[in-house]
Amino acid sequence: MYFTDEPEHIAMLRENLRRFCRDKAPAEKRREWRATQRFPREVFAELAALGVCGLTVPEEHGGLGQDWVAATAVIEELGRAGTFLFGPYIQCAFYGGGNISESGSEEQKAELLPAIARGELFFAYGLSEPDVGGDLASVSTRARLEDGGDTVVIDGVKRWCTGADWADYIFCLANSDPEGERYRNLTMVLVPADAAGITRQPLTHQNLLYTHSYDVYFEDVRVPASCILGGAGAWNDGWRKLAGRSLDVEKVEVAAMAFGLAQAAVEEAWDYAGERRQFGRPISGHQAIRHELVQARTRLQACRHMLYHAAWLVDRGRPATVETSMAKLFVCDVAMEIGLACQRVMGAYGLSEEFDMAQTVRDLVGMPIVGGSSHMQLNNIANRLGLPS
Ligand SMILES: Cc1cc2nc3c(=O)[nH]c(=O)nc-3n(C[C@H](O)[C@H](O)[C@H](O)COP(=O)(O)OP(=O)(O)OC[C@H]3O[C@@H](n4cnc5c(N)ncnc54)[C@H](O)[C@@H]3O)c2cc1C
Repeated sequence: MYFTDEPEHIAMLRENLRRFCRDKAPAEKRREWRATQRFPREVFAELAALGVCGLTVPEEHGGLGQDWVAATAVIEELGRAGTFLFGPYIQCAFYGGGNISESGSEEQKAELLPAIARGELFFAYGLSEPDVGGDLASVSTRARLEDGGDTVVIDGVKRWCTGADWADYIFCLANSDPEGERYRNLTMVLVPADAAGITRQPLTHQNLLYTHSYDVYFEDVRVPASCILGGAGAWNDGWRKLAGRSLDVEKVEVAAMAFGLAQAAVEEAWDYAGERRQFGRPISGHQAIRHELVQARTRLQACRHMLYHAAWLVDRGRPATVETSMAKLFVCDVAMEIGLACQRVMGAYGLSEEFDMAQTVRDLVGMPIVGGSSHMQLNNIANRLGLPS
């Protein structure tokens, strides 16, 4: 790992994706998508045709074999063109491919993974609730078994369920045993998003504008027990599905989003600083701006090392809980600071919707919050390293 060249297939993948983003997601298109808060389905289909969704799916299920470093590079490269392409990519390849490969029953794997590898199925996360953010083990959405265990009935409300209107399935984390021991009383149910009894209410937000996030109401939603993630035998085993290796993958995925967006910020500010002239020279000739930009590039380099080391550990199946938490913490916090510095470089134009910068910064500000906040990562790391409390 230390100081080796990037594998050739990943270098080629980056080149293809850079060309793809240049051709298919230029600045004027991004402005259009931002204004309508929608990602382009047809462009995503073209992206999927490159095979990238297969990077999280084993070969025996129609994928390219799991390659977490390459999949991380996909998020990074797409992130340099905003959230519009990595959003649906993650909701297919990571939420779907990652979780089903890791935790699905054999039946779920056989049914879903080939379509995921083709980029044809999307998944939404129904974890947060109005009263539950970081403390996911306290969800109050209720799942119970009926018909002698054949049917799961779900009641409750999920908040911030991103893409709940176009996703095919919602991963719904539910309390399945109110009297049970904490962490052993949860079940993850893979609910078809068009199931009877589901309704949605859109929320307003300023980040991740590739789509809308929703409050999703489950009222007497009935699905077969085969929809339990991992199969009927995984009743009350939802926490392990959420907190195991899938969580390490998720931390890397969110850090990769932040890293890609931070690069977008640096690239835009760098170009702008070379063109904008004040006091008779490009503003990049003023020491304050030069230093700001070089600091940003240096911080990016540190983020790159943290991120890809964590991705590499996950890829090798090595223990990575601490390293993935450190990467999520460091990359997301630093990426946000990089974004704010780059916005300063662009002066008033960093606040104008004519440039990407204002949106990139709004997206970056969200990164230390989503997918396990920076505070939560600090807690995890302290606990994992055995710091007495
Ligand atoms: C645009 C957007 C999209 C999202 N998409 C999804 C989605 O698709 N699915 C989904 O389930 N969720 C989604 N979320 C929710 C997101 O994951 C949560 O916002 C996140 O988990 C934090 O929860 P919270 O905002 O309720 O904060 P809270 O948990 O209420 O925390 C508030 C503050 O207190 C701190 N805090 C809380 N507990 C502790 C502690 N023990 N120690 C130290 N500090 C603590 C937090 O770090 C934070 O600073 C989305 C959010 C946004 C904004």
